[in-house]
Formats: sequence, C-alpha cells, structure tokens
Amino acid sequence: MYTERNTKPKIVIAIDGFSSCGKSTFAKAIARRLGYIFIDTGAMYRAVTLYALEHGAIRSGMVDDDAVVRLLPEIHIDFRFNPERGASDIYVNGDRVEGKIRTIEVSNCVSAVSSIGAVRRKLVAMQQEMGRKRGVVMDGRDIGTTVFPDAELKIFMTADPAVRAQRRYDELTARGDQVSYDEILQNVLSRDKADMERAISPLRKADDAIVLDNSHMTVEEQMEWFDREFRRVTER
Ligand code: C5P
Repeated sequence: MYTERNTKPKIVIAIDGFSSCGKSTFAKAIARRLGYIFIDTGAMYRAVTLYALEHGAIRSGMVDDDAVVRLLPEIHIDFRFNPERGASDIYVNGDRVEGKIRTIEVSNCVSAVSSIGAVRRKLVAMQQEMGRKRGVVMDGRDIGTTVFPDAELKIFMTADPAVRAQRRYDELTARGDQVSYDEILQNVLSRDKADMERAISPLRKADDAIVLDNSHMTVEEQMEWFDREFRRVTER
C-alpha cells in the first residue's frame, strides 16, 4: 500500500488489451488503491450498442451504421457511483444499463458499432474530458494510443484466449446466462480480430506500453507487478 498516495501529482494510467483479459478487474483494483477514478470505456461502446439494438439500428445482428450515427445525438451516457458494488454503474439517458450491456447479443455487435468513426469521436471526446484533471485509470483498446497518448503509465494486457474465454464463461454462467464455452471463445477471437483490423484506432500496443500477460497470474500477483511499475514511473 502507498502511504504517500495523496501527496504525489496524479497521473493517467492507460490499460489496453484484448477482450476478457480482466482489464476492468485490474483497473478497478488499481483505482481503489490509489484513490483514482476508474473509467471502463468498453462499457461506453457497449451502452451505445445496446441503445442501437433497442432502437432498430441493429437488426438480425446487422449494424446499420447510418442509423447508429443518427441515434448518437440522443444518447447521453454517464457514470454514477454505486456504493453496493463499490464501483460506478453506467447510465444511458438516466437509465441504469450496467446489467444489460454484458450480454452475448451486445458482445456480438459491439465491435461493429465501435468501428464507426462518429461513435469513436463522440466517446473519445467524453473520455478525454473525464480524464482532464488526471487521477484516472481508464481501460479500453485505444487509451494509450489515441485517448491519452501522453499517459504516464501505459499497460497492455494479454492472456491466452482459452483462459480468457473460460473467465468470461464463468462470469456469465455465474449470473445465470445460458451460454456455451465455444460461443464465448468464438466471440473473444472475433472481437480481437475486428478490434485489431478496424481502420480507426485499431487495437495495438502503444510503443511505450508495458505488457502484462496474466494467463497464469492471480489478482494479487498482478497487483504486486503493478506496484513495482507504478513506483518506477512515479519515483523517477
Ligand atoms: O472492454 P470490453 O470488452 O467491454 O469492450 C467491448 C468492445 O468495445 C471491444 O470489443 C471493442 O470493440 C470496443 N472498445 C473499443 N475501444 C475502447 C473500448 C472498447 O473499441 N476503448
């Protein structure tokens, strides 16, 4: 633990990486430890996707880009702290959508929605505003490359796809969702591919990011690794 935690200037910590690597769990733990704000940018892309699904801009899994862009001005996203979870929930137009954005239906369409330029411009601008005062841990795909290229600490997370699919499967089945492991694995692999191949802000490791492969690491081991890296950056 950092006894000096509030005496140092706050920094931006960018956490990017593949789907279902445990980025949010890791980022949330860091934010709690440092007293920083945690922002799950994937939740923002998921919230836009959910809204598009509920308003006819996605039919039978096909995303109508123009229809999504037309909906954008009426989508207002905000995060509100939920003391029960000890984390922030995401809201769209005042409705709490936290539980609805993690379904396989949203997961199957979110990469297509997130490749739309107007969607990215809107959400990136919001993310930059949220981190303007620094003291944020932001997780996503393009934080270290596009949203905060000047982030003081950039972490690129990866893990074996089979391990990632198993983690996501356990999470979804624990809350009662009827899903198959193979379906999850396919979704994880296809999202990685779409995220890496899209034209705007593709998923890639920033040159100055450090890699964390957590395939065989416990959360505690990841936090010890983080402590060392955080000290390295803030004590130089
Ligand atoms: O992090 P999560 O898996 O919830 O993100 C869902 C999707 O949102 C990703 O697969 C990606 O397509 C998109 N995303 C993105 N840029 C970000 C965060 C997420 O394109 N910064």
